[in-house]
This record gives sequence, C-alpha cells and structure tokens, in this order.
Amino acid sequence: MTVNHATRKLVRERAKFLCEYCHSSEEASAAQFAIDHILPQSLGGSDNPDNLALACQRCNGYRYNFTTGIDPQTQEVVPLFHPRTQKWLDHFIWSADGLRIIGITPTGRATCHRLDLNDERHNEGSIVKARRLWVRGGWHPPEEDRTIGLIFDYLSRHTSRHLLRSLATKLKTFSRIIVRRRHYYSLA
Ligand SMILES: [Zn+2]
Repeated sequence: MTVNHATRKLVRERAKFLCEYCHSSEEASAAQFAIDHILPQSLGGSDNPDNLALACQRCNGYRYNFTTGIDPQTQEVVPLFHPRTQKWLDHFIWSADGLRIIGITPTGRATCHRLDLNDERHNEGSIVKARRLWVRGGWHPPEEDRTIGLIFDYLSRHTSRHLLRSLATKLKTFSRIIVRRRHYYSLA
C-alpha cells in the first residue's frame, strides 16, 4: 500500500525536510525524498506515522529492508538507528569540516556503515562532494546540528563528570519548576 498524501505531508514536515538518517536537505536534492518504513513492509511494518521516516533516495536504497547492522568496532550485530525512538545527536556527530558523519554509539557506527552515510563504498564519495558545496553555501550541517552540536561539543570538552552530574540535577529542578508554572498558567 502506498502512504497517503496527508501522511506523506506529515512525515516530510515532521522531519523538517531533512533525511532522518544522513540529514541531507530535500531542498538541496534533485529528487523528492522517500517515505521510509522503519520496520519494512516486507516484515509487517505498517503505514502508521510512528513507523515512517523521511529518507533521501540513497539512504532509502542502502537501508533496503535491513533493521540491523554490524558495529565495525566490535563486529556485533546491533539495531540500526530508529528516527522515531532515538535522537540523531545521541548517535552521530559531524566531523569538524561538516563533511562526514561519525557514529558515536554501536547503533551510530552500524548505521553509518550499513547506509554508507559518507559514500565510502559507493558513488566515489559523491555525498561528501555535495556536502562540500552545501558547507560553502552555508546551509550545512543543518542549523540544529550546528547549534545543539556546538553546545554538546563544548560541554563534552570542558566539563568534568562531576560538573555534568550537578548540571543534570539543576536541569531536573529547572524543568520541574517550568512544569509547575505551566500548570499554574493553565489554571489561571
Ligand atoms: Zn540520507
């Protein structure tokens, strides 16, 4: 069954028109992106939006009907990145020049390898060549990866484990206060 128009629209907007695996922008692509079934239809995956992700033609093609990959560091079989239940920035970082995606978890590394996110085995590295142009144009890596990534990079480099722990506790208190205040405003 093909995914209906309203669902396609939802998936594309939810993904902010980025491939949910390699974070390429649909706008910079010559072809519209595909609607990827995270659990493939051939394995019983449904058209429910929770099972759908936006994927560029290359990621969609390389993923095929695989749901697992091999972590090149340990040779273990692990699940591929799941755009609905996992966060991209938890599993991947951009190289400093913005040209390569680096997996930082077993799932991140296995996904990088299975989907060949840097075209190391296909297309003579064409995705890296395209990214070089996008970087020059100033629209790559995507804004969110840049800003949130920079904050994470800074904290990873300059904070001790102790400081991170205390920061986490403070953030918990902070979010509790926000929730309480929001509750107050919803009653007022
Ligand atoms: Zn992609």
